[in-house]
Amino acid sequence: MNATSDAIVIGAGIVGISCALRLAQRGLSVRLIEREIAPATGSTGRSAAGVRHQFSEAVNVQLSRDSIAEYRAMSQSGYRPIGYLFLVPESDWPAQLDAIAMQRAMGLTVEALTPQEAARILPSNLNGIAGASWCADDGIVDPHSICMAWLSQARALGVKLQTSSEVCAIEQTPGGWQIQCQDSRDRSAQLHQAPILVNAAGAWAGQVAALAGLNVPVGPARRMIFVTGPLPESLRRAHWYPLTVDMTTGFWLRSEHERLIFGLSNPQDSGFSQGIDWEWLEPTCEAALERFPWFEQLSIDRRASWWGYYEDTPDHNPILGAMPGMSGWINACGFSGHGVQQAAATGRLIAQEALGERTSIDLSTLRIERFSGQTDPGKASERLIV
Ligand SMILES: Cc1cc2nc3c(=O)[nH]c(=O)nc-3n(C[C@H](O)[C@H](O)[C@H](O)COP(=O)(O)OP(=O)(O)OC[C@H]3O[C@@H](n4cnc5c(N)ncnc54)[C@H](O)[C@@H]3O)c2cc1C
Repeated sequence: MNATSDAIVIGAGIVGISCALRLAQRGLSVRLIEREIAPATGSTGRSAAGVRHQFSEAVNVQLSRDSIAEYRAMSQSGYRPIGYLFLVPESDWPAQLDAIAMQRAMGLTVEALTPQEAARILPSNLNGIAGASWCADDGIVDPHSICMAWLSQARALGVKLQTSSEVCAIEQTPGGWQIQCQDSRDRSAQLHQAPILVNAAGAWAGQVAALAGLNVPVGPARRMIFVTGPLPESLRRAHWYPLTVDMTTGFWLRSEHERLIFGLSNPQDSGFSQGIDWEWLEPTCEAALERFPWFEQLSIDRRASWWGYYEDTPDHNPILGAMPGMSGWINACGFSGHGVQQAAATGRLIAQEALGERTSIDLSTLRIERFSGQTDPGKASERLIV
């Protein structure tokens, strides 16, 4: 088969689905290609589902703010404002106060709390904590339901979702891009062509770009999410435990119904390692007990715990926008653990970019050129937290 459409989107995770929908809403014919047997089974199906406005860079606040506004308005999103609480050590407190001022100037209800005020939200050992940052509008969503809702709208607009189809070769042609896919069920090959190609392949976006001889610096970093058993009576509360991050170590936790889920990034864990690294449970629990002594009352549910890949870039910010000199190639990848909360805005921005319009959020600090010294990469990179 040699099929032509206006745009090909590679990867049916939350980002690719969002892009496909918004491109179709702008009148383009779209083919959405996914290697797995079902959509939303990559990082999207394995996230902690947190959505937060609290970022240190304004462009990330904008991406999340616009996306969360969309999720709040969407009946199927499962948006639940459980809040995000950051416990901040002395060394990071001045920068955190700057970030809070920036977020408040952008109209967000973010509060700087004393350690004692923070401990009233979640009891903790306050050693070394200078203050806390709290946003009650941060929370969680249901990424799978969001994907299914968007997909059903996209299909109604003619988007063709092709699953079990791995993109294994990409060529630039006079008319745009030609991709070769292999069907994992019968090994048959298919060719598709389009003037626009969106690389939304998540942790595999670097590999997909390499098929076309392009360097897109996105790589995998395995992350574990450990799950506790049901909370004992002594730890049950009327409200969910907010998504709480101890910024001294990066340890985080939140409620998931009658349990907690929790994790800690292992900076050494890069590459496509698979499965849960159970050896990482001990350092994770040590970090938990240091800050939350009540954690010793909890058990671990090994079978409920899971793992997945962050899709990291060198500065932990996404790579969005057209590839310079490569007509029609658009990157929508590298969210470095923030893709769920930034997907809704991303779809709209990528559609604007594809149609040659000025994007409603300035993408200059997120374009790939920042890695080649052609633009200012911006001040600090985003901290790698959940
Ligand atoms: C443990 C964990 C916790 C996280 N917590 C959060 C959180 O709280 N909040 C948040 O916002 N984000 C979180 N994230 C990150 C979030 O899951 C990702 O940023 C987001 O899912 C990225 O979406 P995506 O569509 O870009 O990637 P994916 O969902 O990975 O989709 C990419 C798709 O591309 C497909 N693909 C790859 N190569 C090919 C190919 N050659 N041919 C065809 N298809 C291909 C893959 O199969 C995959 O389905 C977390 C991630 C993990 C692992």
